Amino acid sequence: MADTWDLVVIGGGPGGYVAALRAARLGLKVALVDRGALPGGTCLHYGCIPSKSLLEDGWQTVPKPLAAMLERKEQVVRGLAQGIVSLFKKYGVTWLKGSGLVVKAGEVEVTEASGVTTLACRHILLALGSRSRALPGVTVDGVGIWDSSHALASNNQPGRMAILGGGAIGLEMASLWSRLGSRVTVVEAMADILPGWDATLVRHGRRLWQKQGITFQCGMQVIEVVRQGEERVVNLVDGQGSPGQVTADVVLVATGRQPNVEQVSHLHLAMSGERIWVDETFQTSLPGIYALGDCTPGPMLAHRAMAEGVRFAELLAHFPHPSPTSPIPMVVYTHPEVAAVGLSESQAKEQGLAVRCGQAFFTANPRARTADHADGVVKVVMEEGSERLLGVHMIGPQVSELVATATAALSQHWSVRTLAGVIFPHPSLGESLKEACLAVLGEAIHQ
Ligand SMILES: Cc1cc2nc3c(=O)[nH]c(=O)nc-3n(C[C@H](O)[C@H](O)[C@H](O)COP(=O)(O)OP(=O)(O)OC[C@H]3O[C@@H](n4cnc5c(N)ncnc54)[C@H](O)[C@@H]3O)c2cc1C
Repeated sequence: MADTWDLVVIGGGPGGYVAALRAARLGLKVALVDRGALPGGTCLHYGCIPSKSLLEDGWQTVPKPLAAMLERKEQVVRGLAQGIVSLFKKYGVTWLKGSGLVVKAGEVEVTEASGVTTLACRHILLALGSRSRALPGVTVDGVGIWDSSHALASNNQPGRMAILGGGAIGLEMASLWSRLGSRVTVVEAMADILPGWDATLVRHGRRLWQKQGITFQCGMQVIEVVRQGEERVVNLVDGQGSPGQVTADVVLVATGRQPNVEQVSHLHLAMSGERIWVDETFQTSLPGIYALGDCTPGPMLAHRAMAEGVRFAELLAHFPHPSPTSPIPMVVYTHPEVAAVGLSESQAKEQGLAVRCGQAFFTANPRARTADHADGVVKVVMEEGSERLLGVHMIGPQVSELVATATAALSQHWSVRTLAGVIFPHPSLGESLKEACLAVLGEAIHQ
């Protein structure tokens, strides 16, 4: 054990690599251990970036052949991963390509191709991430039964596809593969797709995606997936015990993610459900060991992990202006996109708040009309009386960009009236956000 590191990060996904870079820039001596061939984690190699590259190509007016889409995706991923490696060099983060094991606080064992080394360190950050959640009795084989990684790498276009899980990942994959020509059925155990999202958006989205040819079977539990020759038969049952069935060439399991925590079970860290418990400084129950991102409680989203990485490093290095916490926006990159930040109408009501909502449809938005992408709506949730902005929920063109404006307003505790007073360029999609704010106040101009 020659050196003592200020910080050893285990996991090079968006949480880990961002924490490492920020800590190094603040003067700490940092090593990062990741078992992938290149850093970037789930997000860069199996998640956010490959899915968005394929969706972007798939939804062009004339889509490329699948092989060309996959090739471009590989280039995008490789280029971005090499960018992280360059940043490690530039800011002095030592990158170790191997598996990290916490021996105890202050000691990490790294198994690389060249052998095993032990690192002595002052602090350890667990940014271990997550993996696809297995569905009991359904074995993912990469042939007839896929997980999301197979769905982002396969050059085989299935004629019929059953997607188990109607959350963000399931719907993005449905949007991609149905656009490419597969007949897609999404099976969801809950009463509707996108559980937890605002009901107005879900209703709107379901109608649009059905028009694109996607079929939904909601309120159906998967009992088993049976092989019949080259086909896979998904046997289902609804809440009343009535059976259902979907026959497909490929079944994609998209029933959520589970945290990678087994590898630290020997440390007996306090847990919150199945994830590692941390306090507001990302400290676990063992002094000197911290955790963030998907392996800790909170939305499993890359931008949450990145924001936590920055804040963690700044707190650790006693940076005088640690970045504040902020509401976390959520996006589903279907066509059209869905985005939300803050409370939905039903969540606000469950909290006992007096709620008023307003909407603006993109059909009345000149920019959306000129672009010929005018399907969708912006919904604003306000507290009656105080005019406090509680949440913004949107489905429509480029709402993944528009939700950042709403997030900024929420993080600064703006009232709906303050946001409604912002001058958005004309014509722009943001005018629908302004109009929805005006609608809640009863002062809409174009409705
Ligand atoms: C198909 C799909 C699409 C997604 N799309 C989006 C999206 O559009 N937007 C969004 O915000 N989020 C998206 N996500 C979620 C996002 O990928 C995760 O929230 C994010 O990657 C979590 O970051 P993390 O740093 O916590 O962990 P991860 O990105 O999972 O990284 C953890 C890393 O740690 C490594 N590791 C774990 N244990 C060890 C060990 N002992 N030794 C060495 N290395 C180890 C892992 O191999 C991995 O490289 C998507 C996920 C999927 C699967």
